[in-house]
Amino acid sequence: MKIVLASSNEHKVKEINEIVAGSGLEFILPPVGFDPVENGTTFEENSLIKAKEAWKLARTWTLADDSGLCIEALGGKPGIYSARYAETPQKRIERVLKEMDGINNRKAYFACAMTLINPEGSVEFTHTGICDGFITTEARGQHGFGYDPIFLVKNSDRTMAELDDDEKNRISHRSIALRAVLDYINAARLAENV
Ligand code: IMP
Repeated sequence: MKIVLASSNEHKVKEINEIVAGSGLEFILPPVGFDPVENGTTFEENSLIKAKEAWKLARTWTLADDSGLCIEALGGKPGIYSARYAETPQKRIERVLKEMDGINNRKAYFACAMTLINPEGSVEFTHTGICDGFITTEARGQHGFGYDPIFLVKNSDRTMAELDDDEKNRISHRSIALRAVLDYINAARLAENV
């Protein structure tokens, strides 16, 4: 069963296909012209906006995700602005470390809201995955992307960027949300109908 992933990020498509390997599902990029206006106020709203936009182009099973980092002491920031918090990934990390300078409460979480749309264009299933952790005082690790080097995984002494792909895929917000989607698809035996 092929599902359009409402994203133009090839890294994300690869990561998601690794998580679902062996499930009979394959995620593909949306048709040319996918350019959603992410003006929602929550991860869930933005996920729905992306899913609808991709469905309009593909008219088939479509999955969207919207994700980001929420830091308790910063009132949930960068949150839905995670991808736009500064010009480059490095500058985004620097901004967070600067804003967290001197703050004792380092609690944070990654969130990933997923929306599955059916070929008729209706929302079939939604789920938000959460991964808890803490913001470090300096960047560590070479794997992953985004804020991974400054995200210390809860109950671990390693940052997300110090985990290899398999380890990250076992615990990440994205894999938690995706597993819920997979469970839903399997339970509904949707794969047999497509
Ligand atoms: P989007 O879901 O494509 O809108 O991306 C949201 C942004 O959140 C990314 O550009 C990253 O900055 C951040 N982000 C989301 N997931 C992760 C992750 O697994 N690791 C590190 N940063 C992430």
